[in-house]
Amino acid sequence: MELAEILKERCNKSIKECSDQELYFALLEMTKKMAQQKESNSGKRKLYYISAEFLIGKLLSNNLINLGIYEDVKELLEKNGKDINVIEGLEPEPSLGNGGLGRLAACFLDSIATLGLNGDGIGLNYHYGLFKQVFSDHLQCETPNPWMQKECWLTKTDTVYQIPFGGFTLNSRMYDIDVTGYGNRTTKLHLFDVETVDEGLVHDGIDFDKEDIEKNLTLFLYPDDSDDKGRLLRVYQQYFMVSSGARLILEEACARGCSLHDLYRYATIQINDTHPTMVIPELIRLLMERGIGIDEAIDIVSKTCAYTNHTILAEALEKWPVHYLEKAVPQLMPIIYELHNRVVKKYRDESVYIIDNEKRVHMAHIDIHYGYSVNGVAYLHTEILKDSELNNFYRIYPEKFNNKTNGITFRRWLLHCNHRLSALIEELIGPGFKKDAAELEKLLAYVDDDTVLERILDVKAACKAELKSYLKETQGIELDENSIFDIQIKRLHEYKRQQMNALYVISKYFEIKEGKKPTTPITVLFGAKAAPAYVIAKDIIHLILCLQDLIDNDPEVSPYLKVVMVENYNVTLAEKLIPAADIHEQISLASKEASGTSNMKFMLNGAVALGTMDGANVEIADLVGKDNIYIFGESSDEVIRHYEKADYISKDFYENDPEIKRAVDFIVSEKLLKLGWKENLERLYKELLNKDWFMTLLDFKAYKEEKERALKEYEDRKAWAKKMLINIAKAGFFSSDRTIAQYNSEVWKLS
Ligand SMILES: *Cc1c(COP(=O)(O)O)cnc(C)c1O
Repeated sequence: MELAEILKERCNKSIKECSDQELYFALLEMTKKMAQQKESNSGKRKLYYISAEFLIGKLLSNNLINLGIYEDVKELLEKNGKDINVIEGLEPEPSLGNGGLGRLAACFLDSIATLGLNGDGIGLNYHYGLFKQVFSDHLQCETPNPWMQKECWLTKTDTVYQIPFGGFTLNSRMYDIDVTGYGNRTTKLHLFDVETVDEGLVHDGIDFDKEDIEKNLTLFLYPDDSDDKGRLLRVYQQYFMVSSGARLILEEACARGCSLHDLYRYATIQINDTHPTMVIPELIRLLMERGIGIDEAIDIVSKTCAYTNHTILAEALEKWPVHYLEKAVPQLMPIIYELHNRVVKKYRDESVYIIDNEKRVHMAHIDIHYGYSVNGVAYLHTEILKDSELNNFYRIYPEKFNNKTNGITFRRWLLHCNHRLSALIEELIGPGFKKDAAELEKLLAYVDDDTVLERILDVKAACKAELKSYLKETQGIELDENSIFDIQIKRLHEYKRQQMNALYVISKYFEIKEGKKPTTPITVLFGAKAAPAYVIAKDIIHLILCLQDLIDNDPEVSPYLKVVMVENYNVTLAEKLIPAADIHEQISLASKEASGTSNMKFMLNGAVALGTMDGANVEIADLVGKDNIYIFGESSDEVIRHYEKADYISKDFYENDPEIKRAVDFIVSEKLLKLGWKENLERLYKELLNKDWFMTLLDFKAYKEEKERALKEYEDRKAWAKKMLINIAKAGFFSSDRTIAQYNSEVWKLS
């Protein structure tokens, strides 16, 4: 162990004498050095995973696990009176992502490294990341989230590019984070940054001058796009990312002996959602600058790029007005027009055009026409893309469409976040599951073993107690560890229907008031950030915080029901919450959640899902069987039909179901208005009553019934433990190692 040496050099102290902060920086240095010594795959064909987000989470423990020295380091620290968990607590979480899409990119890097594939990530280095959420007056407030310290996981490189924009150029410098694979080689996450960024530009929460591109470009991920300036800034960011990335890709390919005419033999680019789409016209442009004709350039790039679709929500599919692109990146417009004209010449169907008649550029259409692969992220999602959302494209290019059901890295979401469960599993079936997740199925041999079932329940109880003390320490929240932990953590969006869960809480509140008390108390935990400009989402947070306050201060109800919204939900919190869950809520409106990945993390940690037949829930239900999951609500086909016929009228449900009416009315009751803001609560009430675009009231009754069934079945502890065990045993399919192996064998073909 060279930790002692590093400490000697850094501060000339022994482990015992060091502060936790000093130890953290020393471990950081040691881990970085060890990672740099590991070899990367240097094969001929290389994958570049380009993504606006990489929600990597804290890295220290994960790197120690992947380097195979976690236990040794932990023991060494313990011997010297130090606690690795406390030291890890000092690590700031890199704030480079927003939700599932960014976390997926992070899990993929882990698996790419673990499988020893030749592939790197490309993204941006946001100084303040997303935002940090704080609650004040029962409202979400946004503040900057500075996560970079003088010493951190970033390594400054000498790679600098000049990126041209309309009217000016910016210097782009590359910073690297080493991504360690489990017992294997490393890959790199390349993050580009402008050298002239000025953090002093930010004032009053997260406001800043959106026009000073030179100073603001990499301040925040997803700057507020509710106005033109914010949207334009996103275009600048996207181009900066892809132009830097494209230059790196060409440089590295040439260094490996590529002649540019055969770029696609040396590089393949996975475009994670539409944010990096401009890499297609930019690469074409750069190839042409280097003397390749347009026909050939288009052909080469089309064989190099592949696209992952993450959503069918129309508002989330990016469409940039032509005049934005003309202002920010005028050099791309001739290429985009050319790409558009080629489509127009070939197809009469205007829905597949790149530029529509409102002069907006449909980014996904560029990806589909000029990429070699289009994939959805769960079975159902890909089917919906083929059958409805992208059907016009599917009929042109059936061979391009494929499914890659998402996955999660088991290193972080089991080995790291749940040492107890991981140790129990290892004791029962040996360590093989760490490399081959399918081995978890061996646990099925214990499905009738009472001692094993007891021990699974014990592990869960210990995780719940741990969450209790963590939330007490970090957020001042009191939990009852003997209650049922029912958890919904994910970005706040109407389609994910946190509002339905909130309505359930209201109706439960009434029941308890009326004397109908639950057998075991229930704790409903939420964690969610809302986009700063998403008004209704913030109103839903407001409602939940008001309910939390109301119930906390009602001694009739609080012993039986508790609502908790944790502040600033992020990867670190997810790692504490997920092992402690009894029930997890995956209640999106069917057809709207592309996959979900928290559903996989919960399953792996022995929680049972309450959900709709949406996203990867469909595959989970298939694997565990109907006795081990709680499914309710209308199917995606039925929902799609409601949209087609426009026949869903929320007011009908409100008027015809007294329980729904009572719950919805409570949002604007005197009791809540005393705690909250009239404007917000009334707006949300009216939204549910008059619009309810994501059909909350449609499924409410079925949701409540199924939830009651789950709560009742929880009481039979042995039967419940069996469900837990089966969920864990069947989770192997959702390892991102499986997902990445499929991408490689069916799309990238790296080896
Ligand atoms: C896994 C994860 C997500 C994705 O959650 P879904 O419920 O699948 O939307 C979002 N945020 C964080 C911090 C995560 O770890």
